[in-house]
Amino acid sequence: MISFPDGKRYRTVASHYRELYGGRLQKLVLDGGFTCPNRDGTLGTGGCTFCDNAAFHPGYSTASMPISRQLEEGIVFSRVRYPRASHYLAYFQSYSGTYAPLDRLKEVYLAALSYPGVVGIVVGTRPDCVDEEKLDFFADLSSGRIVKDWAYGKPFDKPVVVLEYGIESCRDETLRRVNRCHDFACAQRAVAMTAERGIETGAHFILGLPSETRETILEDVAKINALPLTSVKFHQLQLVKGTRMEEEHRLHPEDFMEMELPEYIDFAVDILERLRPDMCVERIAGEVPPRFVSEHRWGLVRNFEILHMLDARLEARGTWQGRLC
Ligand code: SF4
Repeated sequence: MISFPDGKRYRTVASHYRELYGGRLQKLVLDGGFTCPNRDGTLGTGGCTFCDNAAFHPGYSTASMPISRQLEEGIVFSRVRYPRASHYLAYFQSYSGTYAPLDRLKEVYLAALSYPGVVGIVVGTRPDCVDEEKLDFFADLSSGRIVKDWAYGKPFDKPVVVLEYGIESCRDETLRRVNRCHDFACAQRAVAMTAERGIETGAHFILGLPSETRETILEDVAKINALPLTSVKFHQLQLVKGTRMEEEHRLHPEDFMEMELPEYIDFAVDILERLRPDMCVERIAGEVPPRFVSEHRWGLVRNFEILHMLDARLEARGTWQGRLC
């Protein structure tokens, strides 16, 4: 068996940061006031059929507040739960964090990195919202060439910079059906251009989009392995109230894979067994606040409980990340 940090049977992002930086890096979700080409009319106005960004916002993260104020409130909020955290990553999760002119990106991300305690940024975006110029900026940022008066010494002698792409599916027919307005080849290009500049590259996938099955997803893990990713997040499909996906599910439930929680945990184990062992796993399930979700198939189970179940199931099956890779 491969030996992973923390006695786990898979590689966690927390252990990756602990190895590099000696401790926990606490993420603070911020809103940089970006929008998305799939909503502002450039590619479309309706957005992806599963999307409602309001479902993914903590209260302190509001685009109308300056970045410094969001960070101030975010740190107060996070200290209640993680009192020992002293280093933070500013996480721009909403919409597309590279969908703006370069000068605007510089303004937002340099403001975040100048806030005391913030040692890095995580930028969530679409793969069609990056270009050479923007990626060169993030590469310069991550190599420490840009930030003036950087107050940290080792191990933070340069900022942590992560670009996190919403890829969602490796299948073009699925991407068309959920109205992503980009294809998988676009994601492959963006990930390659990012990783070749030495920027940490993450990706997000949704498990259970319409027309996908357990078999097609397991087959697609090979395509994920072929991407030069540092980390990966998997979320089960959660039907957010008022989205077109909720309506589609009501009309065509037969197109959606339904899993009870124990079955989903086994499915996550199947995925991990096929996943490259050097890839960090940041999530295997999502946690949209209950008031936004149209059904609570698994009850009100929390993410940490799901992770305990995952550990137990990996152990019971005597398996680990990459065993079948
Ligand atoms: S999921 Fe992302 S890309 Fe799709 S509509 Fe929402 S913000 Fe835009």
